[in-house]
Amino acid sequence: MTRTVLAADFGGTHLRAALVSEAGEILTRVDHATPEEATPQSVIARVVDLLAEAAEAGSPRPAAACIATAGLINADEGKVILAPNIPGFRNLVLTTPVSERLGVPAFIENDASAAALGEFRFGAGKGTRHLLHATLGTGIGGGIVIDGKLYRGAKGLAGEIGHIILNPAGPKCNCGSRGCLEAMVSGVAFADRARRILDQGKSRVLHEIVGYEDPSATHLYIAATKGDALCEAEIRHGGHLLGLGLGSLVNVLNPDAVTLSGGLLAMGEMLVRPMREAMYSLAYGPAAGTLIRLSTLGEDAGLLGAAAVAFERLDG
Ligand SMILES: [Zn+2]
Repeated sequence: MTRTVLAADFGGTHLRAALVSEAGEILTRVDHATPEEATPQSVIARVVDLLAEAAEAGSPRPAAACIATAGLINADEGKVILAPNIPGFRNLVLTTPVSERLGVPAFIENDASAAALGEFRFGAGKGTRHLLHATLGTGIGGGIVIDGKLYRGAKGLAGEIGHIILNPAGPKCNCGSRGCLEAMVSGVAFADRARRILDQGKSRVLHEIVGYEDPSATHLYIAATKGDALCEAEIRHGGHLLGLGLGSLVNVLNPDAVTLSGGLLAMGEMLVRPMREAMYSLAYGPAAGTLIRLSTLGEDAGLLGAAAVAFERLDG
């Protein structure tokens, strides 16, 4: 009989849980809005309830559980060190309440690292041995699979590709440095770029699209598709920078493939083409053969990533 695991994807807006088979089929799923202004204890209780609900709705009984969440995670201690989604979530052990309630081993993983292993096992990274995964969304995250195993580094930080420096004189990043990839190209960075264009009165098209809303990366993209040359140039430049970052990493890691996921991919070739060109322009020797693939897991990437980590931990 096939084994199953419980997976939870703990995001800024949604809390999802599922019972997942070894083949990556989602057998049952539950989905709730992430509680706002909740205490860490009430959030943990909600996560545990959701996992129990997902387990009870299906069969066979899960062999393990894993929670994927944004932030700094100490996977070996089952601890969230810092989670941007939940204020007050600091140095909290999340795995103990899960394993006590469900009676199975429980694990936790950074969501981008989990996404990398999910792509490797179930998605666009299938068939590779070494994989670099980049999540391109509000922020920039990543995960590294080496020899078929998730690479966590000494303290679980590995894969934080958003914080490689592209311009030491660039904009300030949340991590405290300047000119990080994430500070230059991300949902937040594109929104900042849109705001600056508006402040300088440089795009009537963008001005009309934004109206009274907060400028966003989506506004920038819509203006570009409506023929605004400045907005399009910003996105293409962002793609170019992304390619420089990923190309540098490819030269260090020499993966079989780079897989990409995240909301910024809605910008399509306008972003991806200059990214691909810049990445290959840096390629050192055999790095020129590195494949670039788009995620095939869609909305389920977080759940399947968590499930992939649970299976890896069970078999590790
Ligand atoms: Zn940074």
